[in-house]
This record gives sequence, C-alpha cells and structure tokens, in this order.
Amino acid sequence: MLQSPLALTANTAAGTLTGMLKILNRKAPGTSGGVADGLLTYLRMGKEEAGLGEGWHEPERHDGTWGYRWMKGHARLRLRNDGWEQQRALHVLAGHPFAAERWPVLQVFINGELIGLKGVRPHYMGLSFPLPPTPGPVIDVLLLLDKTFASQLTGDPRELGAQIREVGILSPLSPSHPVLLEVETTKLCNIVPPCVHCFPKVLGEGPEAGQHIRSEIVDKVLPLFKAADTVSLHGVGEPLTNPRIRELVEAIDHDDTYLSLCSNGILLNERNARFLVEQRVKQINISLDAATPETYKKIRRGDLTKILANIKRLARIKEELGSREPTITISMVLMRENASEAVRFVELAKEIGAQTARFSRLNPIDPSYPDDYTVEHSGFSFHYKEQMLPDNKQHYDICLSAARQRAAELGVFFSLSYQELT
Ligand code: SF4
Repeated sequence: MLQSPLALTANTAAGTLTGMLKILNRKAPGTSGGVADGLLTYLRMGKEEAGLGEGWHEPERHDGTWGYRWMKGHARLRLRNDGWEQQRALHVLAGHPFAAERWPVLQVFINGELIGLKGVRPHYMGLSFPLPPTPGPVIDVLLLLDKTFASQLTGDPRELGAQIREVGILSPLSPSHPVLLEVETTKLCNIVPPCVHCFPKVLGEGPEAGQHIRSEIVDKVLPLFKAADTVSLHGVGEPLTNPRIRELVEAIDHDDTYLSLCSNGILLNERNARFLVEQRVKQINISLDAATPETYKKIRRGDLTKILANIKRLARIKEELGSREPTITISMVLMRENASEAVRFVELAKEIGAQTARFSRLNPIDPSYPDDYTVEHSGFSFHYKEQMLPDNKQHYDICLSAARQRAAELGVFFSLSYQELT
C-alpha cells in the first residue's frame, strides 16, 4: 500500500483525491517484423535479442513480469527499415529508478545523426522521436544518456543508466492503447488509526478523506480496462474495501491484461481470495512491514497471525484450483524498527507460500509535517526521521545482503523498490 508501491507506481500529482488515474499509451500491437533477417522493427527487451548491439545489460524482470534491460551510457541496436511510406517515429519505452529532481536526458541518433532528445522520467514512459526519411534496409540506432546525471550517482553501473522496455518503429498516427492504467480505487483504509508511517493526509483531508474513487470516474475508466497491457489497482487505502472492486476486476480481459493490486491483507478472506484466484489476477502485493507479531503490532497495529493465515489460505486456494496466479508478494518498508527482521521476512515468505519478498524504504518526510513528527501508539513512539535508515546505499546493502542471500537459498524472489536505489 502507501509505502510499498511497485516499481511502476512512482508518485505523480495526477488525478483527484478520490481517484488517481494514470494512463500510458503506446502503439497498437501487430507492427513487429519477422526475424528472418535477424532484425525487427519492434524489440521487446527481455524477449528478443535480434538487432541488439553493444551497451546493454542482461534482460531482467520486475517481479517476473515486465521484461527490460538496463542500458549503459550508450547503447546500440539495429532495426529493419520496412519501407513504410507513411510518417514514422522511433518509439522508446524507457524509465529509471531514481526519485531524482533532474531526469537523465536520452539522445537518439539514427544512422549517426541526432534526431532528438528527451528526459527519461522516474517511471516508464513512451518517448517518440520523428524519424527522418531513412535510406537502406537497416536503421542504426544509438541511445545516449547524458553523463551529468550519471556523475551524481555512485554504485552499480546499472544505476547510471535507464531501463528500456521496448524500442521500435511505429506510425505516430497508429491507434494506441494504454500500456499502463493505474487506478487508485480508494482513499479509505481499514487500519484505523493508520499505520505509524502513513501520513494521515495521504488518506485525504476534509470532505475527500476516506472516499472511494468516484463512480463517474469508474464508469469512464472501465471501457479502457480491456485494452490495457497492465492495470494496477494501487495507491493508498485498501482496494478491497471498495464496493465496486469486483466489477473493476471482472472488467479485465485476463488473457491479455496483467492485473496487480496492493492490499493490507485484512479482507483477504475465503470469498475474496477465491474471487482473485478465479479471476486470474496476476499479482497481489501484501504489505506487512514486519516478520514478527510484536513489530507488526507496533507498525501496523494489528494481529500479524491473522494476516499470515489469510495469505496461507490464498496460497492454498491457488493450489486447490491448480493456479499459479496471483503471484504473492509480501512487502516491507525498511526502517530502524524492522531492519533486523529482513532475513526472517524472506523466510516468512517461503513459509506462507509467497513468491516474492519486496523491500523499500520510508518515503522522505512530508514537508508539511514537523521535523520531529512522531506517532505514539500503545507505548511505542515512532519518530519518523529517526526511523529512516541513512540515505546511504552501503548501509542498505548491509541490511539487505543477508536477506538477498537467504532468498537465493530458499528460491524466493528478492525485490527492491526503485526508491531503495536512490
Ligand atoms: S494505514 Fe492503510 S493506507 Fe496507510 S500504510 Fe497502512 S495499510 Fe496503507
């Protein structure tokens, strides 16, 4: 939920308090060329190798789903010029994992000539560059990232680059469909008072506090669901409290669309769990923030054993129905209070049938809150700033390296939020 978004749920100011909606567009499918000549007009990173030149890391996946590759400072590929007569553009679906104020700038060269430059957002975004008339059957593409941005960062060289999901040629006039629809279904949460690290105002203020997404927005958005590549029911609040959640889930074409949602797990009862499995929801992310009942109670105020029982039941229903979906992720927002439980958290994932243990860190303190913002709860005093781990990747590595190793031993997918890398 709030503090544990998936990689693609970076903050935006889009939307209203009662329903954030974010849509990314890309081309209509069906323009990929064949591989007979070793080249394509459309490359989906992680799936196809044809045409890739120097400057690429191995393909990776977000939670085993979206394929992407990190590009280095510069990366090359070759596409087939299929001789379209109509206006064309080079499409690059790119993002980077840094919550930086400045974005890296991507320059695009075609056959040695600069055709454009654009900022790469801390989020996947389709970038379109009009193509000049291109002679010959092959188009050489060079993607170049500005070094100024890279010089601000240290560590793994992959952190200096951008994540690229797709590169291809398309007509800017071709009909498009959403690549990602992100819908904040509610600002109502059934954890009251909120978790200690949840700033009360994110659940809304005044008349908009605790409201579900407005019905008229749902009505507008529903027809788009069938066309989207990915639908994320993320944001703040608990989506399973929304009375229209079933309608939203049922509106999706589960053969073609990847649906994921975040939950605190409280309402993951038999009926809801069975519904999610039967509907073939692809992924569910359950925020726990703790591996022990004591820490859970301090941070999330409830009973961890009940949530774990709910997750185990979900895993059991999957097995019963012979389904591998939804994949189950449990997530932990790292803070001083729970960092020592990182290894145990990975073990817990294995024990309860979750496939992924995901870690992120506390968001920066909201500037409208005082510097010494503290939440008192049942004798526990949560001082927000003091709970933040140092803004230092090495420190995170110490907390997480043992957990990473344990995950490898147990066959649990180990996942870090983009925020962790900044
Ligand atoms: S109070 Fe609710 S919305 Fe806020 S972090 Fe906890 S579960 Fe998420």
